[in-house]
Amino acid sequence: MIREVLRFPDRRLKTPARPVRRPGAAARRLARDLEDTARSFPNTVGIAAPQIGELWRMAYVDCSGHPRVPDAQGPMWLVDPVLIAAEGAEVGREGCLSLPDITANVRRATRIEVRALDLDGAERRIRAEGFEARVILHEMDHLDGVLILDRVASLLLDVFPRVRRTRRR
Ligand SMILES: [Zn+2]
Repeated sequence: MIREVLRFPDRRLKTPARPVRRPGAAARRLARDLEDTARSFPNTVGIAAPQIGELWRMAYVDCSGHPRVPDAQGPMWLVDPVLIAAEGAEVGREGCLSLPDITANVRRATRIEVRALDLDGAERRIRAEGFEARVILHEMDHLDGVLILDRVASLLLDVFPRVRRTRRR
């Protein structure tokens, strides 16, 4: 089901989410809603549960078809993800469904390893690089109530107005 995406400054976006621990039917429903909602927006590579008002540590990432990720790993649902290794650093431009009017320059690690549960509760290790790593880190930030505006070096120099192509609600 396509859900409404919360926008800054909704307080729920600034609230740390709770761990899922044992994903069951509710988590699978939420996973479907995250995918449906992400896919309802053009060029969207990820969404986190708090963005649809569900304060659980769960996110959906899919960089398939993105020009900056020729070897994308396909759709992934990250449940209780934990960053266990990170290296490199690069500043790159990011957008966010919850901040539709801006993009921002954010410094992120370039290679990461994340431990997370899948929807069956099995532990998985995910390695990612470059833009796909950036997307995963962006979505993991949402689970801690951290937005790109919290990550910029300068609110004056690193935040840019976005020209909206399609009108959203
Ligand atoms: Zn976001």
